[in-house]
Amino acid sequence: MSSVTIFDIKRFAIHDGPGIRTTVFLKGCPMDCWWCHNPESRKSEPEKVTYNRMLGDLKLETKQVYGKKMDTDTLMEEILKDKLFFEESGGGVTFSGGEPLYQIEGLSELLNRCKKQGLHTTIDTCGYAPWASLEMVLPFTDLILYDLKLMDSRSHKKFTGVKNDLIIHNLKKLMAQNARVELRIPVVPGINNSAEELTRFKAFLQENSMIPHKLHLLPYHSIADNKYEKLRAKNRMKDIGQKEGLTVHDFKCALATIGIDVETGG
Ligand code: SF4
Repeated sequence: MSSVTIFDIKRFAIHDGPGIRTTVFLKGCPMDCWWCHNPESRKSEPEKVTYNRMLGDLKLETKQVYGKKMDTDTLMEEILKDKLFFEESGGGVTFSGGEPLYQIEGLSELLNRCKKQGLHTTIDTCGYAPWASLEMVLPFTDLILYDLKLMDSRSHKKFTGVKNDLIIHNLKKLMAQNARVELRIPVVPGINNSAEELTRFKAFLQENSMIPHKLHLLPYHSIADNKYEKLRAKNRMKDIGQKEGLTVHDFKCALATIGIDVETGG
């Protein structure tokens, strides 16, 4: 039995794969996306934060810890609480993050144990991980939700902290092996919602015959703003002045023309 560091468990989730699911959010991510909705997920260790909140005229100092270590037995007990709902709805368990592949030992043990319990398993990954990690979890993973954020490599590096070569390499290998992949493209104003990026996404998917089982367009929203404040982390989305560009609807219409089943939302 091993342990993993998580920062949340969401029960009755309906956007992280088919049916009703329990989504386990593993802490730690190798990327640094400007628009990240879960900035508390990035550091691999639990983080203590102190912030002020107002209660009427009263300023209250509040302490909070993001993340905790959990042994895999306890986590399995938590997951199995909703087994009946999974069975009734065709749902299961999703491991998200952060980047779940960065806790590969714990993740592969959990996926293996979930499969032994007959659960449908999904991982939600940014794809920036050694191929060996993906290969290790593939036998126990029914569905891979795979992020494709920017096709232009320089912009990818600028807005996520890493180049996209490894992500594209891994995606091609997964598709070549007929893994069940659903792509996710966050449409982020001022970052990737340009006509040029849309053309690149389209060309990449067409040229490489990368037609996924489904493609989800994830609209950007600013709900994480107060998390950045609590963490005292820089919210770089506030620095982006010009936020015009293509809409999620524009992306949906354009990508649907190449025969992809496109949905808006997770
Ligand atoms: S890959 Fe996901 S979790 Fe990691 S920084 Fe980017 S948006 Fe956040």
